[in-house]
Amino acid sequence: MKCEKVKEKYFACDHNQRIPLDVKCHTLFCSSCRKEIQQFSQHLSELQNTTPFEIEQDLHVAVMAEISRLTPPPPSPLSYSWWIFVGIFILASIFSMPYSNALVWLEWNFGRDLQIPLYSIMGLVLSIYISLFIGLHLEDVKRMSGYNKRDDSWS
Ligand SMILES: [Zn+2]
Repeated sequence: MKCEKVKEKYFACDHNQRIPLDVKCHTLFCSSCRKEIQQFSQHLSELQNTTPFEIEQDLHVAVMAEISRLTPPPPSPLSYSWWIFVGIFILASIFSMPYSNALVWLEWNFGRDLQIPLYSIMGLVLSIYISLFIGLHLEDVKRMSGYNKRDDSWS
Protein backbone atom coordinates (compact mmCIF):
# COMPACT_ATOMS: atom_id res chain seq x y z
CA MET A 1 0.00 0.00 0.00
CA LYS A 2 1.26 3.46 -0.82
CA CYS A 3 2.14 5.89 1.95
CA GLU A 4 -0.46 8.46 0.87
CA LYS A 5 -3.20 5.88 0.94
CA VAL A 6 -2.09 4.74 4.41
CA LYS A 7 -2.12 8.28 5.78
CA GLU A 8 -5.49 8.94 4.22
CA LYS A 9 -6.87 5.83 5.85
CA TYR A 10 -5.32 6.71 9.22
CA PHE A 11 -6.68 10.25 9.26
CA ALA A 12 -10.12 9.01 8.25
CA CYS A 13 -10.31 7.16 11.57
CA ASP A 14 -12.25 8.80 14.36
CA HIS A 15 -10.80 9.44 17.77
CA ASN A 16 -10.36 6.20 19.71
CA GLN A 17 -11.34 4.19 16.65
CA ARG A 18 -9.33 1.07 16.03
CA ILE A 19 -6.56 1.62 13.47
CA PRO A 20 -6.96 -0.72 10.49
CA LEU A 21 -4.61 -3.68 10.38
CA ASP A 22 -3.10 -2.81 7.00
CA VAL A 23 -2.21 0.66 8.30
CA LYS A 24 -0.58 -0.87 11.36
CA CYS A 25 1.40 -3.29 9.20
CA HIS A 26 2.54 -0.50 6.91
CA THR A 27 3.74 1.64 9.81
CA LEU A 28 5.78 -1.29 11.10
CA PHE A 29 7.90 -1.22 7.99
CA CYS A 30 7.67 2.40 6.84
CA SER A 31 9.53 4.75 9.13
CA SER A 32 8.24 7.86 7.37
CA CYS A 33 4.57 7.04 8.01
CA ARG A 34 5.32 5.79 11.52
CA LYS A 35 7.08 9.03 12.39
CA GLU A 36 4.30 11.19 10.94
CA ILE A 37 1.57 9.27 12.74
CA GLN A 38 3.50 9.44 16.02
CA GLN A 39 3.93 13.20 15.63
CA PHE A 40 0.26 13.60 14.84
CA SER A 41 -0.74 11.55 17.88
CA GLN A 42 1.60 13.57 20.06
CA HIS A 43 0.20 16.89 18.80
CA LEU A 44 -3.32 15.62 19.27
CA SER A 45 -2.66 14.64 22.87
CA GLU A 46 -1.02 18.03 23.51
CA LEU A 47 -4.08 19.77 22.10
CA GLN A 48 -6.37 17.74 24.29
CA ASN A 49 -4.47 18.79 27.41
CA THR A 50 -4.76 22.51 26.70
CA THR A 51 -7.80 24.67 26.32
CA PRO A 52 -7.57 26.89 23.25
CA PHE A 53 -9.95 29.50 24.65
CA GLU A 54 -9.39 31.21 27.95
CA ILE A 55 -12.55 32.81 29.25
CA GLU A 56 -11.64 35.82 31.35
CA GLN A 57 -15.02 36.35 32.92
CA ASP A 58 -17.83 34.09 33.93
CA LEU A 59 -20.39 34.33 31.15
CA HIS A 60 -22.92 32.18 32.95
CA VAL A 61 -24.91 35.10 34.34
CA ALA A 62 -24.96 37.03 31.06
CA VAL A 63 -26.00 33.97 29.04
CA MET A 64 -28.74 33.05 31.49
CA ALA A 65 -30.03 36.65 31.50
CA GLU A 66 -30.16 36.61 27.71
CA ILE A 67 -32.00 33.31 27.71
CA SER A 68 -34.54 34.57 30.22
CA ARG A 69 -35.22 37.60 27.97
CA LEU A 70 -36.30 35.30 25.16
CA THR A 71 -40.00 35.13 24.52
CA PRO A 72 -41.79 32.43 26.46
CA PRO A 73 -43.42 29.59 24.55
CA PRO A 74 -46.95 30.27 23.37
CA PRO A 75 -49.68 29.34 25.82
CA SER A 76 -51.42 26.04 25.43
CA PRO A 77 -54.21 26.24 22.87
CA LEU A 78 -56.41 24.21 25.22
CA SER A 79 -58.07 26.16 27.99
CA TYR A 80 -58.04 25.16 31.63
CA SER A 81 -61.76 24.42 31.55
CA TRP A 82 -61.15 21.80 28.85
CA TRP A 83 -58.42 20.19 30.92
CA ILE A 84 -60.62 20.18 34.03
CA PHE A 85 -63.55 18.75 32.08
CA VAL A 86 -61.45 15.89 30.68
CA GLY A 87 -59.88 15.21 34.10
CA ILE A 88 -63.30 15.01 35.73
CA PHE A 89 -64.48 12.76 32.90
CA ILE A 90 -61.55 10.36 33.46
CA LEU A 91 -62.13 10.32 37.24
CA ALA A 92 -65.86 9.83 36.78
CA SER A 93 -65.15 6.97 34.39
CA ILE A 94 -62.93 5.28 36.94
CA PHE A 95 -65.40 5.69 39.81
CA SER A 96 -68.46 4.72 37.76
CA MET A 97 -66.89 1.59 36.34
CA PRO A 98 -68.22 -0.74 39.08
CA TYR A 99 -71.77 0.38 38.25
CA SER A 100 -71.58 0.04 34.48
CA ASN A 101 -73.15 -2.76 32.49
CA ALA A 102 -70.01 -2.98 30.38
CA LEU A 103 -67.96 -4.11 33.38
CA VAL A 104 -70.61 -6.72 34.24
CA TRP A 105 -70.46 -7.98 30.66
CA LEU A 106 -66.64 -8.03 30.72
CA GLU A 107 -66.60 -9.90 34.03
CA TRP A 108 -69.18 -12.36 32.70
CA ASN A 109 -67.00 -13.12 29.68
CA PHE A 110 -63.48 -12.80 31.08
CA GLY A 111 -63.93 -13.42 34.81
CA ARG A 112 -63.31 -11.25 37.86
CA ASP A 113 -59.55 -11.25 37.27
CA LEU A 114 -60.15 -8.48 34.76
CA GLN A 115 -60.58 -5.81 37.44
CA ILE A 116 -56.93 -5.41 38.42
CA PRO A 117 -55.57 -4.84 34.88
CA LEU A 118 -58.56 -2.66 34.06
CA TYR A 119 -58.01 -0.37 37.04
CA SER A 120 -54.25 -0.41 36.34
CA ILE A 121 -54.92 0.83 32.82
CA MET A 122 -57.24 3.53 34.10
CA GLY A 123 -54.60 4.60 36.61
CA LEU A 124 -52.05 4.70 33.82
CA VAL A 125 -54.37 6.84 31.71
CA LEU A 126 -54.87 9.23 34.62
CA SER A 127 -51.10 9.39 35.25
CA ILE A 128 -50.39 10.15 31.60
CA TYR A 129 -53.09 12.80 31.61
CA ILE A 130 -51.66 14.51 34.71
CA SER A 131 -48.13 14.30 33.28
CA LEU A 132 -49.30 15.91 30.04
CA PHE A 133 -51.05 18.67 31.95
CA ILE A 134 -47.98 19.42 34.07
CA GLY A 135 -45.65 19.23 31.08
CA LEU A 136 -47.73 21.62 29.01
CA HIS A 137 -48.36 24.06 31.88
CA LEU A 138 -44.97 23.87 33.58
CA GLU A 139 -44.62 27.61 34.15
CA ASP A 140 -48.12 27.91 35.63
CA VAL A 141 -47.58 24.86 37.84
CA LYS A 142 -44.29 26.32 39.09
CA ARG A 143 -45.92 29.66 39.82
CA MET A 144 -48.89 28.09 41.60
CA SER A 145 -46.73 25.74 43.65
CA GLY A 146 -44.40 28.46 44.96
CA TYR A 147 -41.32 27.62 42.91
CA ASN A 148 -38.80 30.47 43.18
CA LYS A 149 -37.16 30.92 39.78
CA ARG A 150 -34.49 33.34 40.99
CA ASP A 151 -33.10 31.05 43.70
CA ASP A 152 -33.95 27.90 41.72
CA SER A 153 -35.67 26.61 44.83
CA TRP A 154 -39.09 25.98 46.30
CA SER A 155 -40.49 28.43 48.84
ZN1 LIG B 1 4.60 4.80 4.39
